[in-house]
Amino acid sequence: MQWEAVIGLEIHAQLATRSKIFSGAPTAYGAAPNTQACAVDLGLPGVLPVLNAEVVRMAAKFGLATHSTVAPRSVFARKNYFYPDLPKGYQISQFELPVVHGGYLDIDLEDGGSKRIGITRAHLEEDAGKSLHEDFHGETGIDLNRAGTPLLEIVSEPDMRSAAEAVAYMKKIHALVRYLEICDGNMQEGSFRCDANVSVRPLGQAEFGTRAEIKNINSFRFVERAINYEIERQIDRLEGGGEIVQETRLYDADKNETRPMRSKEEANDYRYFPDPDLLPLEIDAAFIEQVAASLPELPDARRDRFGAEYGLSRYDAGVLTASRELADFFEQTVQAAGGEGKLAANWVMGELAGQLNKEGRDITASPVGAQQLGGLLRRISDGTISGKIAKQVFEAMWAGEGDADTVIAAKGLEQITDSGAIEQAVREVLAANPTQVEQYQGGQEKLLGYFVGQVMKATQGKANPGEVNKILKRLLAK
Ligand code: ADP
Ligand code: MG
Repeated sequence: MQWEAVIGLEIHAQLATRSKIFSGAPTAYGAAPNTQACAVDLGLPGVLPVLNAEVVRMAAKFGLATHSTVAPRSVFARKNYFYPDLPKGYQISQFELPVVHGGYLDIDLEDGGSKRIGITRAHLEEDAGKSLHEDFHGETGIDLNRAGTPLLEIVSEPDMRSAAEAVAYMKKIHALVRYLEICDGNMQEGSFRCDANVSVRPLGQAEFGTRAEIKNINSFRFVERAINYEIERQIDRLEGGGEIVQETRLYDADKNETRPMRSKEEANDYRYFPDPDLLPLEIDAAFIEQVAASLPELPDARRDRFGAEYGLSRYDAGVLTASRELADFFEQTVQAAGGEGKLAANWVMGELAGQLNKEGRDITASPVGAQQLGGLLRRISDGTISGKIAKQVFEAMWAGEGDADTVIAAKGLEQITDSGAIEQAVREVLAANPTQVEQYQGGQEKLLGYFVGQVMKATQGKANPGEVNKILKRLLAK
């Protein structure tokens, strides 16, 4: 029997505000435990939450960027449950009326095609605190700093059919929230994490199978592995005559497996009701217009523009626009190079990306900046150095030896374009290789490459290759 996987993701993006969603307490990461939560975040008696206007603006940005409806009226609800890291006994979230609903996002597939993934809704909510199990012997520590931190929970339709599609979608959302500057996307710090809902069904069957929900996965690699593991587990179970129970599972990265955590709770377990302390959230058209006007160029639009403006393939343009920082770096490089989009793309995705990768650095920490790289490319396009010598110059720039012109001058790498000098080198090479000259003139024209190589060697790679070819052909024709 052939099986098909069905996947839907719930992504939690921490909104990049300075203060909490319903209080003025700071959202700074890494502070000493229990120093960043105030009475409102803890829900002490007598306090009243006040909505942070900035989170509304951020949610609206996300809605507009995903072709969603930004609801003119949405409602905050209390989601009631007991847990030590939730001293209030309820989490303020949105339930029936979320701030954003009914949008989509297109992802690129490995086969070159693209696929539309529906976005069911995105709602605002507060985060809970954190239980700490390490460092405590037989006890659990509670750090409430996180309590009240604003989250946007982005719920997808069950439109994905493989772990690879789920990762592509998650990466796309990740890039988008960073383009929009509504989330820093830091997955180690938990600013961007997801729950993956996974089920399988016989290929061709219309109804979905029973799903399991894998909680709180905080890396792209783990999402891929957890989903693949879960798909295999469910298929094995069904093929062995078993059943899938709807449950919440935990992914253990060390063992690369998912384990049951608790049975799936239903919405009515939470006794949701509208929060009596908060008015419904009303958003008018003027506000939406203002937010729309503030949107940056979005990744898909930028990718398409890069293709048209710089003559790049869709794939290359997609790579270069995968993050806003990389796209900015690329465009600054082009500008500094005085054009040359294609050349800049090759260098940014080739030499530069290779070095960054090797050293595990992010583009923002590149020792060779966009201005510097542009300066190097300028020297390639004006013929001062060849592409091959440029790699040598680049290495020196990377090592901190200065900008391209400094390195070229210091190392005497300027290309030899003086045809007299090149002809001199060619004549010496021919004189030193009489046998090969005879063979060439006897019809073995492949040997031209050999002569070019010898001339380049003699000139330390500095001779202009076009000129070398021309002169060789002329002298060998005699
Ligand atoms: P809950 O809030 O109880 O987790 P929802 O119905 O809101 O449940 O769905 C949460 C996520 O699960 C959504 O992303 C949705 O696309 C996905 N989902 C729903 N049914 C299935 C299924 N049978 N298989 C895989 N994913 C599913
Ligand atoms: Mg869920």
